[in-house]
Amino acid sequence: MRKKIVAGNWKMNMDLEEGLKFVGSIDKYFKENPPEKGSVILCTPFIHLAGAAQILKQGKISLGAQNCASEASGAYTGEVSAWMIRSTGAEYVIIGHSERRSYYNEDDKLINKKTLLAINSGLKVIFCIGEVLAERESDKHFLIVRRQLEEGLFTLSPEQMDMIVIAYEPVWAIGTGLTASPDQAQEMHKYIRDLIKEKYGSDCAKKMPILYGGSCKPSNAAEIFSKPDVDGGLIGGAALKKEDFTAIVEAL
Ligand code: PEP
Repeated sequence: MRKKIVAGNWKMNMDLEEGLKFVGSIDKYFKENPPEKGSVILCTPFIHLAGAAQILKQGKISLGAQNCASEASGAYTGEVSAWMIRSTGAEYVIIGHSERRSYYNEDDKLINKKTLLAINSGLKVIFCIGEVLAERESDKHFLIVRRQLEEGLFTLSPEQMDMIVIAYEPVWAIGTGLTASPDQAQEMHKYIRDLIKEKYGSDCAKKMPILYGGSCKPSNAAEIFSKPDVDGGLIGGAALKKEDFTAIVEAL
């Protein structure tokens, strides 16, 4: 059985006090309503990580960052390395999010470098891929996702693939209120799993969690998650409201 996961991506929201208070209330909820081990991840801004790790220490929730530097250490003013993230107690990092690809010009090569650095620092990677609207409309979405996987991920060894969770996030659905239909999500998730099977074999493909992301909310989560190749979700906006986030976890 593969892992089912709901991961919240807070993006650049909440100051330190608000963020830690929110972590505390989510932690309390999941202590009272325990999810399956490893099935809930909070990806906070860097400033929350160390404090959140302390709060979550005895609980059921995993912690992650949203980005890491493309170098291991040294004179890179303003950057935060994968190892620094790991040292806070965080277990995960999101790499390749479409906002990083588009606003910070992160290409497949850089994303590949960050992924390897993160894994070598002991972090698991939520590896994001997905096409923009023009690519879907011109029927290039499979081609784009294939390229993102081949250039960003498929340099990893089979052992390193155990540290990966894939998030398929059609960019046209992120923060827009538009959602891929459950059938569109299933079609792409199956395509992704088939590519993994081709490259790494069927055991790896069967084990790989593939999350859907893009305007996932309590009203659509259950239907999307019911598809056989959809193993949960990466949640942006709805991860900032306790009722919505916990309802999406319930939908797993
Ligand atoms: C995301 O940022 O990964 C995301 C899926 O955002 P939203 O849920 O707000 O569309």
